[in-house]
Amino acid sequence: MQRLALNWRRQAARIGFVPTMGCLHAGHLSLVRRARRLAGPRGKVVVSIYVNPTQFGPREDFSRYPRDLARDVRLCREAGVDIVFAPTDEAMYPRPQGAGFSTCVVEECLSNRMEGASRPTHFRGVTTVVAKLFNIVQPDAAVFGAKDWQQAAIIKRMARDLKFPLKIVVAPTFREPDGLAMSSRNQYLAGDLRAQATVLWRSIQQARAVIRRSAKPLPARRLKTGLKKLIERESAARVDYIEFFHPETLVPAARVTRGTQLALAVFIGKTRLIDNAEL
Ligand code: AMP
Repeated sequence: MQRLALNWRRQAARIGFVPTMGCLHAGHLSLVRRARRLAGPRGKVVVSIYVNPTQFGPREDFSRYPRDLARDVRLCREAGVDIVFAPTDEAMYPRPQGAGFSTCVVEECLSNRMEGASRPTHFRGVTTVVAKLFNIVQPDAAVFGAKDWQQAAIIKRMARDLKFPLKIVVAPTFREPDGLAMSSRNQYLAGDLRAQATVLWRSIQQARAVIRRSAKPLPARRLKTGLKKLIERESAARVDYIEFFHPETLVPAARVTRGTQLALAVFIGKTRLIDNAEL
């Protein structure tokens, strides 16, 4: 992949890149269309499909994460992707005797709260694998989804701090008609859990309505209590966190106004879902 990418670059082809864990849905495909626009008709679009073990915690769903490479490749072909890069674990984290993989990339400011607090080793896995993928794919532009807002902020910071010569683009969250953010993990939602899962979007809309009706900033604490109540009216829902914060710095906001970002993580049964939006 790296040799191919370096050759493309020598021929002045722009490379647009979409990193994914596969099990592709319409949200991923919207990122692919964005990557095509960024690369141009004569450029190259690369999608990586890699369920990265280092970003999963020991009690998370790594082994049962949905995988369907044949379907993903077909969807990528139909979407005009030039290359699907689907490396093996051995290629990404080689373990030759006595000289295994031992270098990591760690972002130390934006990574501590929210997803980082609930999943302590998660972002170190993400930044490490994304840095490796950038070196392998050599993109001019890489597209990430606003669905994973904190992840996108951390990748932007990493690219800036480490001088990766590429543009990071964040594309809007793609939703089901009832508002549920598309996610490979939605497949876990059996029976009426699927309907209960819409409570993430309903609580975002509720917060938005309250903020837009209010003439002055509102205390985050009070809003959180109200949203938690709304969410936990669903029998299978349990709030992991609700956070109001500045969209770029991710600094928590004590007072909430229009333009404050809201992010939430909620267990629906055993499935942990996240969503976020600007208020
Ligand atoms: P994943 O396969 O979950 O690691 O996601 C790969 C990329 O797709 C990440 O940049 C995600 O933020 C993005 N993504 C996932 N779901 C959505 C969605 N519903 N809308 C837009 N982007 C998404």
